[in-house]
Amino acid sequence: MKMNLFLALFFSLFITYQHSYAQGKDKEVLLPADTTNKVRKSDKEWKAQLTANAYQVLRKHGTERAFTGKYHDFKGKGTYVCAGCGNPLFSSKTKFDSGTGWPSFYQPVTKKNVTELVDKSYGMERVEVQCSKCDGHLGHVFEDGPEPTGLRYCINSAALQFQEDQVSKK
Ligand SMILES: [Zn+2]
Repeated sequence: MKMNLFLALFFSLFITYQHSYAQGKDKEVLLPADTTNKVRKSDKEWKAQLTANAYQVLRKHGTERAFTGKYHDFKGKGTYVCAGCGNPLFSSKTKFDSGTGWPSFYQPVTKKNVTELVDKSYGMERVEVQCSKCDGHLGHVFEDGPEPTGLRYCINSAALQFQEDQVSKK
């Protein structure tokens, strides 16, 4: 009986909390501001929208085979955006040849546009990089990159879409 009372209390508090959060603009924002622009789609929608490779990488955390992606040896000048939602992710100015067979960058366009989280899959502890807008999996970041950051964002080509820099075209 006591347990039921406790549960009832817990849920009523939970509902009150949700309610007050959903309601007021005067309430404290609990989530970072940029998460309000999130792109959310069902698995079915993503599957219909994306190429098979992009779907495997972005939505299923896949990794393309080294040296098979379209951008590992690509040297165009412009911006790499998310293949899922168009969020600007990396500039060609920060791209370098890591010799790994995956496009590599030493920093994102802005830290806000990527989410970094600890990934303990496959018996390794790595830092996973996701698109902060659609939560799509991009790749991993390692601490063996070049100056000025010393970071190596090792990103799957399939997760990216290159957009040529219009200004530098002439
Ligand atoms: Zn995205």
